[in-house]
Amino acid sequence: MKRQGGDPAGACAEEAPLTPRGKRVPEVKINTSVFIEDNKKGADLSMWQFGNLEVERGQKVTGYLEFPIIEEKLPVFLLNGESEGPTVLVLGGIHGCEYTSIDAALEIGRRLEPKDIKGRLAVLPIANPEGFFSRSIYVHPKDNKNLNRVFPGNPNGTEAEKLAYCINETAFKAADYLIDLHGGDMIEALVPFTIYQVTENSSLTVKSKELASLFGIEYVVGSTGQVGGSTYSSAAYDGKVAVIAEAGQQGILDPEQSKLLQDGTLNALRWAGLLDGEAKTSPVKQLSTFDWSFADVQGLWYPCVEVGQQVKTGQSLGQIKNLFGETVKEYFAGSDGVVLFLVTSLAINEKDPLIAIGN
Ligand SMILES: [Zn+2]
Repeated sequence: MKRQGGDPAGACAEEAPLTPRGKRVPEVKINTSVFIEDNKKGADLSMWQFGNLEVERGQKVTGYLEFPIIEEKLPVFLLNGESEGPTVLVLGGIHGCEYTSIDAALEIGRRLEPKDIKGRLAVLPIANPEGFFSRSIYVHPKDNKNLNRVFPGNPNGTEAEKLAYCINETAFKAADYLIDLHGGDMIEALVPFTIYQVTENSSLTVKSKELASLFGIEYVVGSTGQVGGSTYSSAAYDGKVAVIAEAGQQGILDPEQSKLLQDGTLNALRWAGLLDGEAKTSPVKQLSTFDWSFADVQGLWYPCVEVGQQVKTGQSLGQIKNLFGETVKEYFAGSDGVVLFLVTSLAINEKDPLIAIGN
């Protein structure tokens, strides 16, 4: 089956919401003041309120974001610069096993100091702590939902939906720019690429495209399809300049690929005006479609192409075999393009992603 985007995760029954101490309560009342902080219009411009944390001008705070509706605490670096500038959010670990990108976000948070920046920077290196510590591929372990398919979230939804809601209300709404770092998951090979959402807002789309082109990464995908609920598309439809940058793969912490993401992010921060200096440009290949294939049946997956390989329409991409080694389904390229990622797990379940071609 060929289609754009999609959600490999299943649904799950809603649980009763939780208080901050973890007690079950029959219904949830949201104190919106905990989430929504429009600091630019605030009386005290020197103080940055970010969820439950406060940062004075010229200061850096590391701490945990806590929310009334989830048990998870999200580690965050908050930098409040000494002069005015944009507010930028850098995310890592939306998918808990994408270690290279988590490391890259962590290093950005560690390395930068308030004296380096104009404006404000929030870095959440492990945005999905339960997914991280349970080594959960694609999904939040509590509800089997893909966090990158449920934005802007729901305060009365399942765990992933509540987590998305908390991140959206506190972090997305505070930001002018969103840089969300990803990579191949535990069972995915991947060539680095960046992706942004094409919306009807053409000036915003131009900016997102420009931002996506600044990572020193060759492939830039302008997604016209609806990967519903992803960070970058949800933020784009909310008027934010937003990109995902992907590097690293297969549960391996790759220092070189981490450096690629760190250098790209620093370059993007120069372009956004948060850091001094000229942003460097490098040649990119613009891709306009992102064609995913999903498994129709459970079985053993034998891909016959590699990431980074150019494929032609109709070319075989791989086969799913049954437990006796007999081919039950073969997959073919629906278009010419480059293999951007590829699932490398032999074990495949129905509806699992298999491969994505960009063209
Ligand atoms: Zn990811």
